[in-house]
Amino acid sequence: MRDVIIVGAGGGGAVIAKELAGRGLDVLLLEAGARFAQPEQDWSHFESDANNPASGYFRFGPADRSKPPWVRELAQSTLFVQLSGVGGTTNHYQGNSPRAAPGVFVDYDGADKSAYDTSHLFPFGYRDLLPYYEWVEHTLPVETAPMSRKEEIFFQGALQSSCTSLLGQASLVKQVRFPRQLLTFAVVGTNAVTLVVMLVVLVPVNLIFIPETRTTFWAALPLMLPLVALAGGIALVLATLTVVFRDVEHLLTAILLPWFFLTPVFYTLDLQQISGHPHLVQLLHWGNPVAPLVIAIRDPLFFGQLPQLGDVIYVFVAGFIGSPSMNLCTVPVFNGAASFGGVDVPLPQGVVANGRTSLVIGVRPESLDVAEEGIPAKVDVVEDVGADAFVFCSTELGGETAKLVARSEARKAPKQGDRVTLRPRADEAHLFDPASGERLER
Ligand SMILES: Cc1cc2nc3c(=O)[nH]c(=O)nc-3n(C[C@H](O)[C@H](O)[C@H](O)COP(=O)(O)OP(=O)(O)OC[C@H]3O[C@@H](n4cnc5c(N)ncnc54)[C@H](O)[C@@H]3O)c2cc1C
Repeated sequence: MRDVIIVGAGGGGAVIAKELAGRGLDVLLLEAGARFAQPEQDWSHFESDANNPASGYFRFGPADRSKPPWVRELAQSTLFVQLSGVGGTTNHYQGNSPRAAPGVFVDYDGADKSAYDTSHLFPFGYRDLLPYYEWVEHTLPVETAPMSRKEEIFFQGALQSSCTSLLGQASLVKQVRFPRQLLTFAVVGTNAVTLVVMLVVLVPVNLIFIPETRTTFWAALPLMLPLVALAGGIALVLATLTVVFRDVEHLLTAILLPWFFLTPVFYTLDLQQISGHPHLVQLLHWGNPVAPLVIAIRDPLFFGQLPQLGDVIYVFVAGFIGSPSMNLCTVPVFNGAASFGGVDVPLPQGVVANGRTSLVIGVRPESLDVAEEGIPAKVDVVEDVGADAFVFCSTELGGETAKLVARSEARKAPKQGDRVTLRPRADEAHLFDPASGERLER
């Protein structure tokens, strides 16, 4: 003898069966329609296939196809769209789970109260139902949608308008000497203002309607910095490319649309259709430089969760790579010191005894000065970066041509083609084993 018998395994029946069985009752669930064991294989995605009266699964009738569909007498002229089978009509629903409007509950007292059917209100308040909504939404699970396009709007706007930022100001570029990057950064800055305006509107709205974000929203704010930095870096590359190749602007327009849909803006990577393909999830997450940013900003701003550490590390690295890397040169070890362009770099204890005859010395651009004496070099390019400039040079080290980058004050920077001498700061140099690449502590 069963405790409960439920007739119909549709949206309602199946849920009731699960809940009662979960509370220890012996439940029998009866379903007159078919069991759709392999919908992925058996069904097509075409609406007309679904509605086909002979073979379509979208049919309200018994599992035995030789029998006619069920007929229902309706009191008025009404079209009922239903599906019979395990899962019932949820086999065809749109996966949309809106809550009822607060105005249909008995305790509603808004200015538009009279706009609702006040003679058929739910006999309890909206707040009474909230814990049940939250429980159902957690069980399904339901996700917030749409999940905002603000980062994408900023990113796309900044890239699109930056393309012609240099080309469009050709006369200014030719007449006045100033850091050219400012033109592109000005365009990125303009789009950043739009981003700030969107945030000013969005954050208070989220705080009101998504209470769980009240403790996490702040974590999204510092992430705007790497977002702007990443957009600024890519914008510079695009602006420079547009000077040489005029079609970059149009090519970018074509690329931005698919790029937008490949970025998880309107969906999350745990979406059922994607999550079953782990390699695809990894590719969408880490193969797209904007994806970790969007995910890291969305978690605190919409889901009330702090961003994942991996995403945060990625966005800061992606946002701020681009400054010249360390100068690395292999130099001979002699008399307990490594000689780098005439400057002796003291070695760690035991390095000589370990039999090394050469070492790799690493010097960051800010630790390499343009000085009176040092390594003779020729200036290939000087890049202004505001108050400072990067001086890209070629030199001869150990009989081979080497590239070195020094950092200098912009107004004291040498010019392209100048002969200079570069002096490393010995106490700021880093030492590495040439065989293993291992860093040697001093
Ligand atoms: C195209 C479409 C899109 C939709 N999209 C959404 C949406 O996005 N969000 C949303 O919330 N809702 C949506 N709905 C509505 C939602 O699917 C239904 O409200 C929900 O499935 C109703 O659940 P139910 O259990 O009342 O009925 P059903 O899900 O229809 O289940 C009834 C079940 O009972 C079985 N049955 C009937 N008589 C018997 C009997 N005598 N013996 C044994 N079994 C029997 C039937 O075969 C059927 O399987 C959509 C509906 C349609 C048609």
